Amino acid sequence: MQAALTPDVLIVGAGVAGLACGVALSDAGLRVTVVERSALLGGRAASWREPTTGVTVDIGPHVLTSEHHNLLALMRRLGTETQVLWQPQPLITLLDEDRRLAMRGSRLPPPLHGLPNLPQALKSVSWRDLWSNRRVAWRALRINEQQSLELDEIDARQWLQDMGVRADFIEWFWRPACLAILNVPLERCSATALVRVFRLMAGRNGYCFGFPKQGLADLYAPGCRGVIEAAGGQVLLNTEVKQVLLRDGRFDAVVLADGSRLQARSAVVAVPPENLAEMAPPDWREIDPAPTLAAQLEPCPYVSSYLWFDRKLTRQHFWARTWSPGDLNLDFYDLSNIREGDTEAGAETPSLIASNSIYAHAAAELSDDEIVRRTVAEIAEFAPEAAQARVVHADVHRISMAVVCPQPGTETARPAAATPFENLWLAGDWTRTGLPSSMESAARSGALAAEQAGAWLGRPLLAAQPVPETRGLPAMLRSRSLS
Ligand SMILES: Cc1cc2nc3c(=O)[nH]c(=O)nc-3n(C[C@H](O)[C@H](O)[C@H](O)COP(=O)(O)OP(=O)(O)OC[C@H]3O[C@@H](n4cnc5c(N)ncnc54)[C@H](O)[C@@H]3O)c2cc1C
Repeated sequence: MQAALTPDVLIVGAGVAGLACGVALSDAGLRVTVVERSALLGGRAASWREPTTGVTVDIGPHVLTSEHHNLLALMRRLGTETQVLWQPQPLITLLDEDRRLAMRGSRLPPPLHGLPNLPQALKSVSWRDLWSNRRVAWRALRINEQQSLELDEIDARQWLQDMGVRADFIEWFWRPACLAILNVPLERCSATALVRVFRLMAGRNGYCFGFPKQGLADLYAPGCRGVIEAAGGQVLLNTEVKQVLLRDGRFDAVVLADGSRLQARSAVVAVPPENLAEMAPPDWREIDPAPTLAAQLEPCPYVSSYLWFDRKLTRQHFWARTWSPGDLNLDFYDLSNIREGDTEAGAETPSLIASNSIYAHAAAELSDDEIVRRTVAEIAEFAPEAAQARVVHADVHRISMAVVCPQPGTETARPAAATPFENLWLAGDWTRTGLPSSMESAARSGALAAEQAGAWLGRPLLAAQPVPETRGLPAMLRSRSLS
């Protein structure tokens, strides 16, 4: 390869992290080459046209939130922020056995913003159950990031029990909340990960959910590619990196699957942990534990289903079930009420319902037909007409690693962007961002790596949005606990 074409930064992986990194560096005037092994951009937030129906489907339904600050900043940069449908009230509808609980968002100052939902919660749990959370709430409101990391070796269920939360409330609230937000059963979740999320739930108001009005990847992937190419960079699909090569304690090049080498002044590796483990050479592993630790992280499998019905079943954007072991799906989205374009959101458009089975080891054993049958039955609990409706077409996506499980011990082990090699950085949702693995964590990781690469290349830049902090009384309590 000619020296004149040597990119400033080689980015391995064209998921949210790699593409966000590429945009930030391109905006700083650096020339970037992104290499992606798949034929599609977007990685675990990819979309494609489903061949039978011609409808764009995502790898699985995703939600954005008003707290996805890094992703939203990227979308503003690309001009796609209007392509998110923000959920009006209620914040979320929970199906709790035969009860529908409409949980509302509120602008009351934290932590009072949860109060309007008390009457709803009291339909399912007792005052005694709620009161048993007082120590958890008090601790979460005062804790800071450093203190929360001290809980990393404890599992979330044990921690809740130790804090006096009643077993019934753990099963009703904490178990589904942990699965929905952190993707693991409580017993397999680090208390740090749980506390971090609850601290923000209790300490911030005005939270809301948003859904892509088009294919998820269309919100960012084509726009990122356009920015990178306009700055003189390139995005190479179907290009797999087999190994990272180091020389004299620095990044030198990558070896591609066809045996060729690609050199660059520096590199950002923005791939899932198991892929990092595969491509890190022995001289990397010898001085940095990150690739070895990466290989030990537990993947969380998902099964996501898309069911095209012959009729309209709901007027809802989405709903969730208060999940318990034995259930299949947790969250459901009627895309006929959300999407614009190929599915034509509209009053009488037949329902296209997407759902997620999370930590789906049990579902992975089932046939597609069985998954469809059980998913229809779960939809019918919310929309009874589903039992009579015909499923015109079904698509079951089996995803072996949707996110990394935040097991006890993993939060302190998440690697930062910097590696021991001065011109090599890591990005990806699983790296140390202070956020749960998500598109937001991925976008923030890409921005953090871009800041470090930009500084090293003499083009300092500011790209990362900070992790949200608590407001109101919780913020006052937190700052006191620091002093
Ligand atoms: C079904 C499902 C539902 C989800 N729901 C939500 C949600 O509601 N909200 C939310 O915020 N997040 C959600 N997530 C998580 C979110 O999608 C991920 O956290 C995020 O997309 C990860 O982005 P990333 O860039 O870190 O990694 P990835 O998207 O995995 O990108 C890494 C890229 O690297 C490429 N790569 C790997 N190895 C190589 C190699 N050797 N050479 C070249 N390229 C390579 C991969 O092909 C991939 O494209 C969900 C995920 C799934 C699967």
